[in-house]
Amino acid sequence: MERIEVTHTASLHAPHPGLGDTLTLQDKAHVGGEGAVYFTTDGRHALKVFHQQHPGLEQHLTRIMDRLRILTDEQERFILPPLALLNRFDGQPRQGFVMRRVPPRYQEAINLILGPEQAAAQFQRGRTWGSYLLAARSIANSIVVLHAMGFAHSDIHYKNFLVDINEGDAVMMEADGIVTPGYSKARVAGLKGFMAPEILTRGAEPSEKTDRHSLAVLALHTLLFRNPLEPLIEYADDPQESDRLGWGAQALFSEHPGNPSHRPANLGRPLYKRGVLSYRMLTPELQQLAERAVLETGLHDPASRPAAKEWRDALAKSIDQLLNCPHCGQHFPYPHWLDPPPRRACPFCGQRCQRPLPAVISLLEERRTGNFTPIRRKLVLGNGSNIFADMTEPHRFPPRSRTSTKPIGHVEWDPRGAYRIVNDGNTTWISITNSASTPRASVLQGSQRLSATSGQSIPLNAHALIRFGPDQRAAVVDDPGG
Ligand SMILES: [Zn+2]
Repeated sequence: MERIEVTHTASLHAPHPGLGDTLTLQDKAHVGGEGAVYFTTDGRHALKVFHQQHPGLEQHLTRIMDRLRILTDEQERFILPPLALLNRFDGQPRQGFVMRRVPPRYQEAINLILGPEQAAAQFQRGRTWGSYLLAARSIANSIVVLHAMGFAHSDIHYKNFLVDINEGDAVMMEADGIVTPGYSKARVAGLKGFMAPEILTRGAEPSEKTDRHSLAVLALHTLLFRNPLEPLIEYADDPQESDRLGWGAQALFSEHPGNPSHRPANLGRPLYKRGVLSYRMLTPELQQLAERAVLETGLHDPASRPAAKEWRDALAKSIDQLLNCPHCGQHFPYPHWLDPPPRRACPFCGQRCQRPLPAVISLLEERRTGNFTPIRRKLVLGNGSNIFADMTEPHRFPPRSRTSTKPIGHVEWDPRGAYRIVNDGNTTWISITNSASTPRASVLQGSQRLSATSGQSIPLNAHALIRFGPDQRAAVVDDPGG
């Protein structure tokens, strides 16, 4: 077994229960601009030691630590709260804090999403875009947790998240970059490209609203492998001034329909053919969030930017709209919103979606008895797709993983030309096909009614209303596929 050298010792104050008040540490693992990070010899914790003394830092960290003590285990997965403050390092008074150590399989997000080349290299190792979608969801979740605690962050960007791309999991680092709006000033300026324009134009302090901008940029960067606001023209002779204008007063969405100044060459061409992914490959709900955040007023009007929770939920709902490309193996949101169907193609290899095309259903929840309301969650269902309880039970979102979850149903392609949904659960499913061409969930007269108990199936007919049992969600078949 490898022998781990103890090279440093640290004494702590205000440690969390179970941490003890001294640590033994290995040699430094990472040196950054602000401080160095050391791992404990037991591999469980990391210690950040600041290079210089900062007045008020202890107070700042103590406030963050105290408030984050109430995090649930689920919330704590997404951020690394300070667990103790450093008192002395090798006997010398130094500033710093202890945090949980993230396992070595996590890497900085920048290594995964810097550009299309990095992404393509990851895909060659068998990783799929679906993992990036999960990672973006995790990133949004960390900001949701932070905002729920009344905090903002002065430094949200791709170097401050550690990502396990195999699991699609992300953790936010740099707890010292957390700010309490109206109470503590930002210690770090933020990273160019992720800062809200108003920070550059009028020196705005970091807040929940500036975070909303940074999150939109980071989420889109994670999904498209490029910064959606990257300036492609110079705005001044002095490069620094040009940058300040390009990301600030002149900030412009790369896919602005009326102004192509920041539009990359090869936009929308398949990624594997030296193309650049367009935000239009994303689900309509994500496209709308992107437009609100960086195309329409949100770019320069902080109040109209989507909240972190909206990003988290829209990213979560995209998971069940992925299609597996039979040609290149990539996962991508099935572009059911494009008509006619021959326009639907894989954004990675460019191959057109092949028949039988998947079916698309929209989930509904019963708000009043017999009255179903769409919840803006769609499912893309092909031959062999599974139905899980999180799809049919009210108020649920897709979980992080379904690998240990038993499906309650599945979809089969009937070669006679229709999909059938097979009930593998215990409730009785009912399909009601209205004779009218437009579905009205509450009007069920003049309709054909079919039911399926366990082991039986019902067809996914156009406009059919499917009920998954009492107190369960229902679904409308938007597109029967085929
Ligand atoms: Zn493909």
